[in-house]
Amino acid sequence: MPQSQPKIIIVGGNFAGLNAAKHLSARHFSVTVIDKQADFEWLPHIHELISRHKKAEQLRHNRQQLVKRMGHSFIQNSVIAIDKTLQTIQLATGEILHYDHLVLAIGNSNILSKVEGASQYAFSFDSINDAENAAFQLQRLDSLSLASRPIVLVGASIEGLEVLGEIIRRYQRQWRFKLYVVDAAPVLMANYQGLDAYLKQKCAHLDIEWHLGQSVKQVNKDSVELSNGDILPSRVTLWCAGAMPSALLVAAGLTAAHDTLQSIVDTHIWLAGDCAELPTAIAKQAYHALPMGKLVAQNIKRYQQNRRLSTFNALPIPSLMSFGEMGFLLAKSHALASPSFIAAKEGVFQANFNLIKLPSHSQEWLGLKSSLQQSGLNMAKLAKNTWHNGSLLEAHYFPAT
Ligand SMILES: Cc1cc2nc3c(=O)[nH]c(=O)nc-3n(C[C@H](O)[C@H](O)[C@H](O)COP(=O)(O)OP(=O)(O)OC[C@H]3O[C@@H](n4cnc5c(N)ncnc54)[C@H](O)[C@@H]3O)c2cc1C
Repeated sequence: MPQSQPKIIIVGGNFAGLNAAKHLSARHFSVTVIDKQADFEWLPHIHELISRHKKAEQLRHNRQQLVKRMGHSFIQNSVIAIDKTLQTIQLATGEILHYDHLVLAIGNSNILSKVEGASQYAFSFDSINDAENAAFQLQRLDSLSLASRPIVLVGASIEGLEVLGEIIRRYQRQWRFKLYVVDAAPVLMANYQGLDAYLKQKCAHLDIEWHLGQSVKQVNKDSVELSNGDILPSRVTLWCAGAMPSALLVAAGLTAAHDTLQSIVDTHIWLAGDCAELPTAIAKQAYHALPMGKLVAQNIKRYQQNRRLSTFNALPIPSLMSFGEMGFLLAKSHALASPSFIAAKEGVFQANFNLIKLPSHSQEWLGLKSSLQQSGLNMAKLAKNTWHNGSLLEAHYFPAT
């Protein structure tokens, strides 16, 4: 490898980081991807681990293999410090690595550490392991012989509602929980008229109590204390609320980026995905993280060639949200509810997840074929729930507020 190749270090190898690596040629750059976890994880479907509609292995790819295929190096380690002056990063194991360009794609951190007792007693959904752990706790609680089985779910925006939907999907036939839902917002999905009432009505047959407009003061082993003084009993506390910038970026003063994704304080540092705070805020979504990774790669090439950098324009794509077997398309002007959006979400997942690891030999082509066949069957089943004798079974419209 010629000495003159610029050295690019990418910290974080999920949606944004991996896509940046994919768009940097190993012929022109010496690229190293560093991630603390061994596997790429498809986070947008981890809530389905609760209902067992997905298994953990369906949501993972081995990162070492993916990065090797791109012709780059992978290090499984945690980056604990960045020295902008020396252009180095430090790994948790002590090694210091030099970079010409540093790409930060490390996502956001959970706010658990900011609420007393939450890190100790609440289960979050930041990774596949977290979601599996939460699923196990729910299953264990369901199987115990107890007079009551209280659960507190903190956070009822998209992530929290997707988790709630899967709990209902898995346990509604024999509902034995008392579920308390807490959120600081006074209504669910306040951007759309009527969606709050619709979602609550979908759960009306279950023992669910809503504590909206409340925040959590403290989490204890068997209760959750709210800011208004209410104490909710809890055998399992699930945490789907709030995110904050990673301590690594805050310590280095590196959270903000221009709309070219170049750091506002250092021309050799780039931010992509959820960790990038842009001049105009965008939703923290995988469908933004992927093109941000690609743009960072393109802009590093432009920078090297002294060309003008391109700016990131977030595509105005509607989000897809699941609520058990009901899917929602969330657009700027309206939301639509129909089971067919579950099939659409599954389609988006299957296409993109498989594209991340294109097969390189016959065994992998066979694996891809069987995975796509399975997903075709799943989608056909889902579509059957939507249409009956040529008419749409259930579809609802909610205008934006
Ligand atoms: C339950 C749930 C449902 C979601 N649903 C959707 C959806 O329907 N559609 C959608 O588009 N998005 C959805 N999202 C959001 C989506 O998952 C994120 O926007 C996306 O993962 C962001 O990608 P990223 O690459 O920026 O960061 P991440 O995917 O968070 O990846 C960051 C990576 O950095 C690594 N890392 C962090 N710190 C360090 C360090 N110090 N050293 C080394 N490595 C480090 C982590 O291990 C991780 O691999 C959902 C998220 C969740 C949790």
